[in-house]
Amino acid sequence: MAVQTVASTTPADDSGEAPFGPAAALSCRECGTRYPLSPVFACQECFGPLEVAYDLPLGDPEGLRRRIEAGPANIWRYAPLLPVPADVTGKQNLNPGWTKLVKADNLARELGITGGLYVKDDSGNPTHSFKDRVVAIALEAARTFGLTTLSCSSTGNLAGAVGAAAARAGFRSCVFIPHDLEQGKVVMAAVYGGELVAIEGSYDDVNRFCSELIGDPIGEGWGFVNVNLRPYYGEGSKTLAYEIAEQLGWRLPDNLVIPIASGSQLTKIDKGLQELIKLGLVEDKPYKIYGAQAEGCSPVSAAYKAGHDVVRPVKPDTIAKSLAIGNPADGPYVLDIARRTGGAVEDVDDEQIVDAIKLLARTEGIFAETAGGVTVGVLRKLIETGQLDPAAETVVLNTGDGLKTLDAVSETTGPTATIRPTVAAFREAGLA
Ligand SMILES: *Cc1c(COP(=O)(O)O)cnc(C)c1O
Repeated sequence: MAVQTVASTTPADDSGEAPFGPAAALSCRECGTRYPLSPVFACQECFGPLEVAYDLPLGDPEGLRRRIEAGPANIWRYAPLLPVPADVTGKQNLNPGWTKLVKADNLARELGITGGLYVKDDSGNPTHSFKDRVVAIALEAARTFGLTTLSCSSTGNLAGAVGAAAARAGFRSCVFIPHDLEQGKVVMAAVYGGELVAIEGSYDDVNRFCSELIGDPIGEGWGFVNVNLRPYYGEGSKTLAYEIAEQLGWRLPDNLVIPIASGSQLTKIDKGLQELIKLGLVEDKPYKIYGAQAEGCSPVSAAYKAGHDVVRPVKPDTIAKSLAIGNPADGPYVLDIARRTGGAVEDVDDEQIVDAIKLLARTEGIFAETAGGVTVGVLRKLIETGQLDPAAETVVLNTGDGLKTLDAVSETTGPTATIRPTVAAFREAGLA
């Protein structure tokens, strides 16, 4: 893995305020070696992934809660807990987040859940997926580091989120996707005017290619949101944990069902929940984290079921393309979290994904992308197999919008009837 070295330590900031808020350093997840905040992502000692370490504002939970509640209705209300300057709200940013937490009583009834069920619906973000959260943080890091081109390797949603965020913030963007994505994802990635490059290969090939670009002189001044800015990018997912807790009235649910692509989102939601407990913003109580994959790309689920600590890479083949990462970087950490919290990792096949998309639409009026079909499908399977207690309170994530993956359902949905515009014809159709 190429490790980029950066001359300066913490960049200067005109305002004099800490450019990374409460963030203190980057720290290696494996060996704990600390590095100054800079666009690096791998430990030079052991090649482990780096993540942001904080000096959290401990000691005054009431004051912190009041400050958060007085903040804007987007992720920046949590600026005191994010690696960004406190004045970030004044910057050109898409300001994602504060999406709906929908009480899903109809779906709960269908699934036999009696303890309460909520859908955290991240299709409501600016580019209709959860990726706007992670990109917003990575973009602010890129701005602070003086990087001028925003880039990524993407399974689809990330490319659109980067394109849009770069357009608004005045960055150049150049994003990379596998060549065989859904049309909705390709159009979303291209429409914001940046460069979009389709790579003849899988997502894992695209990701490898981007790592090479970073090591090449071409990549100088480039911020790959999920590669050299990955430590900052990942922190955006913590806001899902914060929002769920705040929207529940500053408390934790019993269970969370979270999709897994690289596993970053799941691990950072756990990090966010742990922080809330540490800060005294919620009462300390056990919660279970369940990971959800598509059967056609289920390396983490397979490792979980086999009792392994390592994740063996696979070649993805599933309609849930946004989750089609065959070699998930955070896979081993997902296994740790599922096991530590008493959750599980489960998978569903393409047919179950489509059924679950329709179930959520039919019961709650929420049209999810295939990744939402994966989480709702897995939730159903977890209940049917006795792995999730239906008497406990559960939050299931929908991380994307069904309009971007129409192909998944278009073959099995359509007009109930096509008729001439007469009452007689309607009667004949048997629908009156
Ligand atoms: C990227 C993505 C995820 C999760 O990605 P991680 O790499 O696991 O963080 C989940 N849902 C959708 C729709 C996505 O696009």
